[in-house]
Amino acid sequence: MQAVMMEEQSREETAVAHYGKLLGIGKPWEVRAARLDLIRGRVEIEVGWDETAAVVCPECGKECARHDHAPEREWRHLNVMQFLTVIRARIPRCRCPEHGVKTIRVPWAEKDSRFTVHFESLAIQIIDACRSLTQAADLLQLDWDGVQRIVDRAVARGLLRRSTEGVRYVGLDEKSFGRGQRYVSIATDIKGARVLEVVPGNDQAAGESLWRALPPEQRSKVEAAAMDMSAGFAAATRAQAPQAAIVHDKFHVAKLLNDAVDQTRRAEHQQLHAEGDDTLKNTRYLWLHGQLPEAKQASFAELLEINLKTARAWAYKEQFVEFWAQTDAAQGFAFFSQWKRSVMRSRLTKVKAVAKTLHQHLTNLLTYFMHPITNAVSEGFNSRIQAIKADARGFRRFLNYRSRILFHCGKLNMLPVLPESASH
Ligand SMILES: [Zn+2]
Repeated sequence: MQAVMMEEQSREETAVAHYGKLLGIGKPWEVRAARLDLIRGRVEIEVGWDETAAVVCPECGKECARHDHAPEREWRHLNVMQFLTVIRARIPRCRCPEHGVKTIRVPWAEKDSRFTVHFESLAIQIIDACRSLTQAADLLQLDWDGVQRIVDRAVARGLLRRSTEGVRYVGLDEKSFGRGQRYVSIATDIKGARVLEVVPGNDQAAGESLWRALPPEQRSKVEAAAMDMSAGFAAATRAQAPQAAIVHDKFHVAKLLNDAVDQTRRAEHQQLHAEGDDTLKNTRYLWLHGQLPEAKQASFAELLEINLKTARAWAYKEQFVEFWAQTDAAQGFAFFSQWKRSVMRSRLTKVKAVAKTLHQHLTNLLTYFMHPITNAVSEGFNSRIQAIKADARGFRRFLNYRSRILFHCGKLNMLPVLPESASH
């Protein structure tokens, strides 16, 4: 009988030591007990502190007297098999002559985290691979807030470690957010293909906040910034990074010209339709598309044969693509002047309006030949940002949205590292 009990006990001891190894903890910490709760599907690992060991102040690292133990806390750890696993411990508090009563560091978690470093690292990788927060929450057996908290902590860690050294080209861009005309603005590091910052609004103040994402010294080294032709971002750049050349983004220019073609088509279609002519019906897509599928090319060629205002507007839009292919600013200027003269002789009011707008901004269009940058990086993040937007919710909606964009598009180094005491 006694032999059986001893065997039981030694098996128990082996299991406990085994958990200690799995957790990667050692003296003066030790696993005291491991309980398997089959009904709740949980493993609880109780960790204790060797009472005879010295305690060290987390602020200064000096050995000091043990004050007491903090109340018991729980940390979520990596699952053992399919069982949700938690570590429970009461952490000793030291009384440092200089820093007062402090809770000492534990080797399995960062300060103030409810998760072990191992769990948090796995969670970050799972969240990164998931399309939605709900999916990540399911996989991790966490609630939605728990996942968002891991995201927030990961981003905070990543931003602290982030280097912006060498950032020479910045993109400022607006994205719609929420219902109606609400916007957020994002700053990207164009060469690094990463999002630097996200702020609410799309005016000058928003643009200035974006610039402040870079430390002043780095900000003063930015050579050029890509942006739309709105006054806000340009004014923000003059205020915060006056040395940076402003380069109006060619995607925005293309959009203005596309809109002009579309408005011309709509007006012309209305007029033709009133005369019983439906030539332009269902052709919207043909005029806006850059490269037409083969099946559509013949019918589009026929449309171009007819003397339509829409076709002339379209031709001006297509011609303008050549602007970006000019070899330098002087050639760009010559091309633009010729293009504009031709547009102004036409009776295409919408295209003429765009030509005037472009003329007003010509200086910052010609900068493209010195710094051929665009907001392609920001455009490239659109589908990811759309998915995040659809998934963003809750009271802190904008802040959650910002932190998730930085999490997925910021290229941050976000994994927690084991506290130093772990290696001692
Ligand atoms: Zn101290």
